[in-house]
Amino acid sequence: MGDIQFTDLERQQARIRKALDSAIARVLDHGHYIMGPEVAELEERLCEFTGAKYCVSCASGTDALLMPLMAWELKPEDMVFVPPFTFFATAEMPALLGAQIRFVDIDPQTFNMRADTLESAIQAAAGDRNIRGAVIPVDLFGQPCRYEDILPIAKKYGLRVLEDAAQAFGSTRFDKHACNLGADAAATSFFPVKPLGCYGDGGAIFTNNEELAEKLRSIRVHGKGLDKYDNVRLGVNGRLDTLQAAILLAKMEVFPEEIASRNCVARWYAEFLGQSQDMQLPTVDEGNTSVWAQYCVLLPPGARDRVVEHMKKAAIPVNIYYPKPIHMLEAFAHLAHRAEDFPVALEISRRILALPMRPYLEKHEVEYIASILIDAVNKSGK
Ligand SMILES: *Cc1c(COP(=O)(O)O)cnc(C)c1O
Repeated sequence: MGDIQFTDLERQQARIRKALDSAIARVLDHGHYIMGPEVAELEERLCEFTGAKYCVSCASGTDALLMPLMAWELKPEDMVFVPPFTFFATAEMPALLGAQIRFVDIDPQTFNMRADTLESAIQAAAGDRNIRGAVIPVDLFGQPCRYEDILPIAKKYGLRVLEDAAQAFGSTRFDKHACNLGADAAATSFFPVKPLGCYGDGGAIFTNNEELAEKLRSIRVHGKGLDKYDNVRLGVNGRLDTLQAAILLAKMEVFPEEIASRNCVARWYAEFLGQSQDMQLPTVDEGNTSVWAQYCVLLPPGARDRVVEHMKKAAIPVNIYYPKPIHMLEAFAHLAHRAEDFPVALEISRRILALPMRPYLEKHEVEYIASILIDAVNKSGK
């Protein structure tokens, strides 16, 4: 058995190396490194893929969260509701703009934000006062939230919705694509190991609102007006590189097949790990398809340290997403939360383990990883 990597981009690259080489060569030949023709072409392709009307590519998934919040002119007294179990940037960007962060506990099956806990959090935060702000549901580990439940709650309280689809690009809910599920805007990331990744940082924002799309294009280039020396608002340098756009165009050619392969890997894991009663395996919510950004199992309480040790000894790379829920991170210490304030996020952060997941894993590798994991879990109980 060769070395198993957590995510190996080498096998993907071997498959599409020729297309990548010629895409990169084309950019070197035309030399438009900033906002070259590949950027507009990619945005068009991403619109076709998702069904969203407008796509504004940008420099990272983090910028894709920041820029819509800037466009909405978030103010310090505004409240932004986020799950405590996500990558830091989901809470970091609204906090950076000075908004008050309110956490909403997650669903124990999908790990996504729930509509009922969202409504309780809004009521606890606002009472009968009118509030302004936004909700940022996260499509964690590859599958969408239940937007048909979340959107009406946000609307009822006058809050905007920004879908954080950084881990779920390519997934669907009731046959509609992530990034086009009814939110006011959606953000995704093309960080190399996301389901659709480039070879550096990159991201994109989606919306069906023309005015917002125009504002985002301005914010992307320092708040440009008619030209970049006519600044009409504050913005950022948030452009996607032409080279990264060219790489993404080449990768999009194999992306649908890669999604199918990831689903195949997930089915193999379920088949082999299903023999053990001691783990909770990930499920796909009814109405969803997943792109399996991660394949995460829940271990028996207290077992994780020993299981991780065992996996390391067997040279199987595993990861923990996320070891600390955001309400317990030092950066949010000023909110003075107790660990138990969000009990589901806390419990899951203590028991979760991510296994190697990528389209190019082979069945015998999945079987091997599963057998070592089952063995590790059995031993950890004794
Ligand atoms: C990766 C990620 C981001 C940030 O994306 P970058 O491209 O790394 O800036 C935001 N939210 C979630 C949920 C992510 O997984």
